[in-house]
Amino acid sequence: MKIFVAGGAGYIGSICVEQMLDRGHEVAVFDNLTEGHRAAVDLRATFYEADLGDRDAVVRAMGEAAPDAIMHFAASALVGESMTNPSKYFRNNVANGINLLDAMVTWGVKKFVFSSTCATFGIPEKMPIDESLPQHPINPYGESKLMFERMLRWYDEIHGLRFTALRYFNAAGASKKFGEDHRIETHLIPNILKVALGQKEAVEIYGTDYPTPDGTCIRDYIHILDLADAHILALDREESDFFNIGTGGGTSVREVIDCCRRVTGREIAVVEKSRRSGDPPRLVAGSEKIRRVLGWEPRFESIEAIVTSAWHWHQQHPQGYGD
Ligand code: UDP
Repeated sequence: MKIFVAGGAGYIGSICVEQMLDRGHEVAVFDNLTEGHRAAVDLRATFYEADLGDRDAVVRAMGEAAPDAIMHFAASALVGESMTNPSKYFRNNVANGINLLDAMVTWGVKKFVFSSTCATFGIPEKMPIDESLPQHPINPYGESKLMFERMLRWYDEIHGLRFTALRYFNAAGASKKFGEDHRIETHLIPNILKVALGQKEAVEIYGTDYPTPDGTCIRDYIHILDLADAHILALDREESDFFNIGTGGGTSVREVIDCCRRVTGREIAVVEKSRRSGDPPRLVAGSEKIRRVLGWEPRFESIEAIVTSAWHWHQQHPQGYGD
């Protein structure tokens, strides 16, 4: 298939692009490189450097690429930032995303794979979080993604756009070539590995008084290659649907740090800080539906496997993509 990937130069997008190319698909990447990196765009892909906010550019690029399906990774994705700058989140994640949907309507492209998030659930009333739970986001990031999910239903009903919305839990790890490099790094695993590499003195733990066994937040870390598999499986779907995607295991911040100590064999100093606003205590995916309906199976379920792949990449790219 020919796939048009908005945000294909970012962390998750770049690895999905690589994995699709490896499986014989043709890929066009559309990215403004504000978060993404030119060096993260696989050389086998066609590249359009342009902004999703530029409606004409989106329509033109999509017309030229003539894709069978669209994947949409181009979004702002930091919970903390969304609590101080909601405008950025509603503009990038909702308003600009509409340009992508409208370009699909213009060119008659019917298949859409959307990067959604467990942050659409807020603080869920039970765990694990399956698709039946109500969605009550507690930050503008989650709200913006939920708004987009809701728009998708209407584009389906009115324009016949078939979508798969994948609600990611915590994507982590790396492929052999591509990994996680954010210009301002807020994510847990890369920040711990910076300490292991001697680039940072200590990792900050945001909150040690959560109602969890060790007082730190619990997240469901999913290997980026397993996430890429789900996107590729979604390309074969003919019906619209929403899936939560994680491994179903929960790992606390302290457990992730201990795992990084074991994998790297290095000392990792920590500083205990207060809670980061917008962080729910525990987020673990109910992944029964995606396993059953998409036939998805994670290949790397352990936090060790995830951290090991990230550590290999960071050792080989200590300055990330270097831009
Ligand atoms: N976290 C932390 N120190 C850091 C970065 C993150 O304690 O330097 C915590 C954060 O509060 C959350 C968990 O680690 O509980 C995962 O955060 P991350 O930003 O990686 O992903 P998120 O869950 O926000 O998508």
